Amino acid sequence: MDSFTYVAQPARVVFGAGALRFLGREIELLGAKRALVLSTPEQADAARQVATLLGERAAGIFPHAVMHVPVETARAARAEANRLGADCAVAIGGGSTTGLGKAIALDSGLPIVAIPTTYAGSEMTPIYGLTEAGVKRTGRDPKVLPRTVIYDPELTLTLPLALTVTSAINAIAHAAEGLYAPDGNPIIALLAEEGIRAGAAALPRLRKDQRDLAARGDALYGAWLCGSVLGAVSMGLHHKLCHTLGGAFNLPHAEVHTVILPHALAYNATDAAEAMRRIARALGAERAAAGVFDLAQRHGAAVALRDIGMPADGLDRAADLALQNQYPNPRPLERDAIRALLQDAFDGKRPAA
Ligand code: NAD
Repeated sequence: MDSFTYVAQPARVVFGAGALRFLGREIELLGAKRALVLSTPEQADAARQVATLLGERAAGIFPHAVMHVPVETARAARAEANRLGADCAVAIGGGSTTGLGKAIALDSGLPIVAIPTTYAGSEMTPIYGLTEAGVKRTGRDPKVLPRTVIYDPELTLTLPLALTVTSAINAIAHAAEGLYAPDGNPIIALLAEEGIRAGAAALPRLRKDQRDLAARGDALYGAWLCGSVLGAVSMGLHHKLCHTLGGAFNLPHAEVHTVILPHALAYNATDAAEAMRRIARALGAERAAAGVFDLAQRHGAAVALRDIGMPADGLDRAADLALQNQYPNPRPLERDAIRALLQDAFDGKRPAA
């Protein structure tokens, strides 16, 4: 056994079908009395239901979360929290809503209760992002880590199948890169492999019946584990490429993860052989990169960048951007090889690795 450092993130997790009913108890345990409920405009009904459930412990709702947390939205949410005298925020939704909660916590230290309804995993990380004048800045701060997370699979029954598939592969990407992270450790590897297994195994069942509650529970459990990996160790080329493509070309978050992951794994295959073996085993596939590609394609996800809005003439710029700033990756970053990776992803070519 090699030596390692393992840092546990101090969140309280309440998991299970119907777990939303424990929200009042959880708010009380935090010592809070006035919760501001956050959501996207599309999930405003869910936010209203949460406010109704909280009764007099609800200070109000702010249903204006959008992708990538524009600073203007963050400022408006903070002002609303101040105006209402909120002493905690409840974020019900995916990574965009959790991200808004984090932006409030970053400034105010307000405790966040996250109720995730996708598999993005942000609720398990101290990573925040804020977008100003089109540039997304990310950072880590323990203040933004939600204090309590309620995972209720019933709330994911409405997640459309297409987003179910890409969001689950988004989660798998965190775990896959965690398996070759230089600061990885045996505990994180356990979480990662089990997270990939649970997420991948849930997808065929959800394709048959997207309201299969047991499969929804397995997918959400997988997302929790994968999100814990993201929160604990460094990410490599895959996350860098997705961040770059999402930010510079405004590509949809979960979809871009789904297209890039097989190619990022193929790029790293020979330099991270043990991680690939574990990813393949968790997927029940022969090879890691092709296994992820097949998982996506079998479940109807787009597998080519050109099909999710990437302009062909942006590939050179994307390759240049991917080489900016240093980040850990098993295989050294080589411009020509990264440009070739992006071309394969653009064309939707099945990787051989
Ligand atoms: P999202 O939060 O943007 O949600 C996408 C859409 O799906 C929204 O309209 C949302 O309202 C809707 N939706 C969510 N759950 C639903 C449900 N159960 N039923 C019906 N509709 C539902 O998407 P996402 O992929 O979860 O999050 C992406 C964002 O999160 C990106 O900005 C990304 O950078 C960020 N993120 C951050 C971290 C981190 O650690 N900081 C981790 C992962 C993702």
